[in-house]
Amino acid sequence: MCALAVEEVVQESVRRFLSKPRKMLIDGHWVDAASGKTIAVYNPATGEVLVQVAEGDSEDIERAVRAARRAFESGPWHRMTPSERGRIVWRIGELIDEHAQEFSELESLDNGKPLKIARIADIPLASDQFRYYGGWATKILGNTIPFSGAGEFHAYTLREPVGVIGQIIPWNFPLLMAAWKLAPALAAGCCVVLKPAEQTPLTCLYLGELLQQAGVPDGVVNIVPGFGETAGAALAAHPDVDKVAFTGSTEVGRLIVQAATGNLKKVSLELGGKSPNIVFADADVESAIDGASDAIFFNHGQCCCAGSRLYIEKSIFDKVVEGVAENAQEIQLGAGMDASTQMGPLVSQEQLERVSSYAEAGLAEGAEAICGGRRFGDRGYFFEPTVFINTKPDMKVMREEIFGPVVTAAPFSDLDEIAAQANDTPYGLAAGIWTKDVAKGHRLAQKLRAGTVWINCYNVFDASLPFGGYKQSGWGREMGHEVIELYTETKTVCLKL
Ligand code: ADP
Repeated sequence: MCALAVEEVVQESVRRFLSKPRKMLIDGHWVDAASGKTIAVYNPATGEVLVQVAEGDSEDIERAVRAARRAFESGPWHRMTPSERGRIVWRIGELIDEHAQEFSELESLDNGKPLKIARIADIPLASDQFRYYGGWATKILGNTIPFSGAGEFHAYTLREPVGVIGQIIPWNFPLLMAAWKLAPALAAGCCVVLKPAEQTPLTCLYLGELLQQAGVPDGVVNIVPGFGETAGAALAAHPDVDKVAFTGSTEVGRLIVQAATGNLKKVSLELGGKSPNIVFADADVESAIDGASDAIFFNHGQCCCAGSRLYIEKSIFDKVVEGVAENAQEIQLGAGMDASTQMGPLVSQEQLERVSSYAEAGLAEGAEAICGGRRFGDRGYFFEPTVFINTKPDMKVMREEIFGPVVTAAPFSDLDEIAAQANDTPYGLAAGIWTKDVAKGHRLAQKLRAGTVWINCYNVFDASLPFGGYKQSGWGREMGHEVIELYTETKTVCLKL
């Protein structure tokens, strides 16, 4: 584990960033919380405080919403040509790339993920969102609708920005989740109040400085760090917010929906999952083993789409389980900033306790951990990659989202049986299928009630691919063209000629 102090492993600009309490961004100004309070942000590899961050609450949300409303109603964002707006959104992506090393270091320190993963995954995926949606700004179109006989009416639709958007994001991919939300909202011409997760506000605040450099006008993006029950709840309930976009747990998703009823604001939700990953005997077994391992262990299992239920055709069950367990045991745990680290700590003490209690429940209910099952070390929030066998469908570890590096493995014997088992969950975010029989893969893909189905791959993301959940995994889709619909209203204009 990393023996060096934070100051010794980061570059000068990051050291400076961490050297003083960070403020929040409201109306183009960096300000303290109205209450003057701050939140301690921890390094999950050591449990030590990295920096203090302004703790926003309902008063700060009020100021931020007012700024966003003013920017939306009268400000230049709305009046700017789509081409100019697109260029600014694109420029944000360029600036993220120019500062990729700083972002990676902050993300690794704050969230715990390995620096090299932040560098090759989180940061370039985030910058790509801005480039992709920069391109969309000029391509948000309505239709002409020839409903009448020739010459009687002229009717068409416009797609207009929804207005002021509250965006509430989680801690597992802090910058990337901000990018998923900000990039399409900005391209569509909306103004935003963004609340990062209390555990991981640093890269969002760093991004705030670049937004200003890119030319985003004051008030168009306001960033208010704070706790969910205070700042988050105030944003979700605010009567002058037109839409709330949330990513997080299904439990909090329900609270968001309730809070939104006051002014019936629009709601989109990207929630939890318990995704099945299905390996057929005719798969390329070696790549299925590696794919199944990545599906659960990537980002320490802290992915809403983690392949946490592994179903393996009976004849190859032992081989695949042994392969995944071997991979699990070879994973090098350590501080994210260590070059040799393959898996960092969980994000927080709370998360460590949560994952540990699920592992204990699995053992108490009769599952067998063929590897892992425990905390790793006694400093920081590390948890061993864990593979459970001898599971039953009604066990807690089979039904509930653990959000840690814990996979359950179960055998199956035919396609209809496995489709039913895979769908036996309140969630429907993602699924994986491993087979060389293309027809079988597509047939099963159609039977699975999930927003994304990966065949012979897992965790493949692109700004162009819509992502979101069936059932209790959410409302609406992020990315692709679909998300543009979430940030625009349709206006029908009908003229009698
Ligand atoms: P997790 O369980 O993974 O921490 P949460 O769903 O609790 O995920 O948190 C995701 C985001 O939702 C965070 O930004 C958090 O602060 C926020 N949040 C938590 N509770 C509420 C709430 N009652 N209202 C609005 N936002 C909330």
